[in-house]
Amino acid sequence: MDSFDALALDPALRQAVAAAGYTTPTPIQARTLPVILAGHDLLAMAPTGSGKTAAFGLGLLQRLQPGLLRVQALVLCPTRELADQVARSLRKLAAGIGNVKLTLVTGGVPAAPQRASLVQPPQVVVGTPGRVLEMLEQGLIDPDAIASFVLDEADRMLDMGFAEAIEAIVRRLPSGRQSLLFSATWPDAIRAMARTTLREPVEVTVDEAGQQPRIEHVFHETDPARRNDALVALLLVNRPRAAVVFCNTRKEADEVAVRLRDEGFDALALHGDMEQRDRDETLLRFGNGSLSVLVASDVAARGLDIDEVDCVVNHALPSDADAYTHRVGRTARAGRTGLALSLVAPAEMARAQRIRDALGIEPRWAPTGLPPGGAARSAPRAAMATLRIDAGRVDKLRPGDILGALTGAAAVPAEAIGRIDLFPTRAYVAVRRDLAKSAAAALQAGRIKGRSRRVRLV
Ligand code: AMP
Repeated sequence: MDSFDALALDPALRQAVAAAGYTTPTPIQARTLPVILAGHDLLAMAPTGSGKTAAFGLGLLQRLQPGLLRVQALVLCPTRELADQVARSLRKLAAGIGNVKLTLVTGGVPAAPQRASLVQPPQVVVGTPGRVLEMLEQGLIDPDAIASFVLDEADRMLDMGFAEAIEAIVRRLPSGRQSLLFSATWPDAIRAMARTTLREPVEVTVDEAGQQPRIEHVFHETDPARRNDALVALLLVNRPRAAVVFCNTRKEADEVAVRLRDEGFDALALHGDMEQRDRDETLLRFGNGSLSVLVASDVAARGLDIDEVDCVVNHALPSDADAYTHRVGRTARAGRTGLALSLVAPAEMARAQRIRDALGIEPRWAPTGLPPGGAARSAPRAAMATLRIDAGRVDKLRPGDILGALTGAAAVPAEAIGRIDLFPTRAYVAVRRDLAKSAAAALQAGRIKGRSRRVRLV
């Protein structure tokens, strides 16, 4: 199937697909959409970046009865960040259907606004298993009209200890539902979950050529005492625009980030010891192009769904092949090509061999040193920098107000302004790095939506 036209999609959905700029279905979409639209249960092997969100999103939206104001679709995701991302994609796809209400029901944020939003039932709930179960138990989600149930990144949900919560949720769902399970890896626990959750599922694994993202795997043998030097050299030689460096511990992640900043990189650490707000801010800055390197632990990176990561570096190899798959899955999304570099100490050779065998990849082995004269090269800077404004949605601030203030009084050209993110009491805007300082000063001195606001360069 090389076109969406071959599918019996609702015209409003067909239009949303075109508006998103999707011309040809990705391999996973081509294989799963006919199955999903025909109403079958599905067990699909699909990594992040394969386009699976649109596959299940189009399926559940096609089944939706817009006039029925009850919860009709439930999507479970491993993290709040992924749930956010899925919700955003679904809202875009649903834009033409009119009045589809979607509520995010995720942990890690206050429950009260979610409860309030569930009083008038949404038609679609996207959430994380723990919080969704809580709302079901409290009678705030009525499951009886759920016709579509999606388990997204099921293997990650199991890794995070959500098996029991998922089972408890499934027990409450009506038996006539359609269930779709997506997983990047296929351990036994997923097969067991499929048996209890799905009914005569169609199994889809996209063949090697279609499913394997175009990732070049390069292994670099490294003296373990000089890992950080090797990392710096790799980043200076490859000069990625946006790279994620994976560390096995939080402490290493912090140390590596400090070292990279010392070398002039726009680098920050992301790990589970950080306050949620700092994690959000770090992710936001990476996503809007203000950081060139994110140094992450495995758990923290689970919610990382940023499309334009062109390079993943394993500061050290992870202990198993599934973790390697998840890490390198952060790059080469949506048909782009990506680079996966791994520093391998002599003591980790057996690990390298296991990963190679398990995944059937043929990594290239290469030295890590800088080419002659290379040491003089300076670290590539991130293209953008982020301004934080201490005002947000509760102040009725809109992206247009920020854009207006920047292009007006601050005289920043529109093409130098990047993503704007609005929160209840804060707003962030990405501005081309060379203009960011003066833009911050001008915004601080002037007015935004008629009032002076605190603005600073983060
Ligand atoms: P996902 O695997 O659902 O996280 O999707 C990864 C990325 O692929 C997202 O940025 C989507 O917007 C994009 N995408 C999904 N379907 C298509 C398509 N048919 N053509 C081009 N890009 C797509």
